[in-house]
Amino acid sequence: MRSITVPTAILLAFSMSFTPPTVSERSDAIGSTKDLPEALRKALEPGVDFEAIPTPQPGDWLAVHRETGQSFDRFAKSNPNRPSKTRRKIYLQPLGQFPDGQVPLVVTLKEYAGAYFAMDVEVLPRLALSGDKITTRTNPYTKNRQILTGDVLAILRKNLPEDAFCLLAITMEDLYPEPSWNFVFGQALLRGRVGVYSFARYDPAFYGAKRGSDYEKILLRRSGKVLVHETAHMFGLLHCIYFRCVVNGSNHLKESDSRPLHLCPVCLRKLQYSIEFDVIDRYRHLFRFYQKVGFDNDAQWIANRLTHILGTEAAQAIIRQETIH
Ligand SMILES: [Zn+2]
Ligand SMILES: [Zn+2]
Repeated sequence: MRSITVPTAILLAFSMSFTPPTVSERSDAIGSTKDLPEALRKALEPGVDFEAIPTPQPGDWLAVHRETGQSFDRFAKSNPNRPSKTRRKIYLQPLGQFPDGQVPLVVTLKEYAGAYFAMDVEVLPRLALSGDKITTRTNPYTKNRQILTGDVLAILRKNLPEDAFCLLAITMEDLYPEPSWNFVFGQALLRGRVGVYSFARYDPAFYGAKRGSDYEKILLRRSGKVLVHETAHMFGLLHCIYFRCVVNGSNHLKESDSRPLHLCPVCLRKLQYSIEFDVIDRYRHLFRFYQKVGFDNDAQWIANRLTHILGTEAAQAIIRQETIH
């Protein structure tokens, strides 16, 4: 069992130089699409809906982490885990306390993951922190309680359901991956099918700020984004360095907030190869979900993309069908 871990945030003192890929390098990363069905081929055209990855600012992920990139071909050759008849479900494992009002968050995230990955998603009964062998510490700087990711991952490995493609713990507790680290947003084993991620730092209250009226929407957007990002790692996707994409690494909250919710063509191709979903059906379900939760810009992005893939008339027909009045 290879045990490659993919931390989502770390503070390092050295600096990397990263040059954004050129148009042709991005196209090479998508790979040849000429033998694919037309809808999929169109869905993988960059068009105007995807932005190139920008030059990183000091402190950004790519300014401090060396990432060589994972083209679609490199991904396919890596023999990643793929859903099978027996291992076909995504499981979510709530860990520790969720304050009142946040149970709906778990239900909504289940629905989101189902639409995003076009797979069955199941929520396991909440796992209490007490009584389990989970190491905790008080962060020396922020003085908040943190739990050790390795202990959580070990428990998840033991509890992995037989039909699980992957099992992801979600928690409001803050996390750390080892004593020398300040914190981590999440951590996943690329081949071990398990991961854990925390919403703690997505809550303004963590930083002592007041929760605004749009707090629930912000928390849903941030936690949905990290859910999708960490689950993508479960499929063997490495961080994306080609476009602005949900699979981009992120070093701090501002960078994480600036990431879009969508998959770029390189990462979309990887997940479609793995799950074999119908790209149009997937966008249809996501469009419906984004409208329902009030993510209007994301719903508009999907409408634009459907127009690129299907043409105006066919896209409008879907949008009319799926629009909530
Ligand atoms: Zn990551
Ligand atoms: Zn990407």
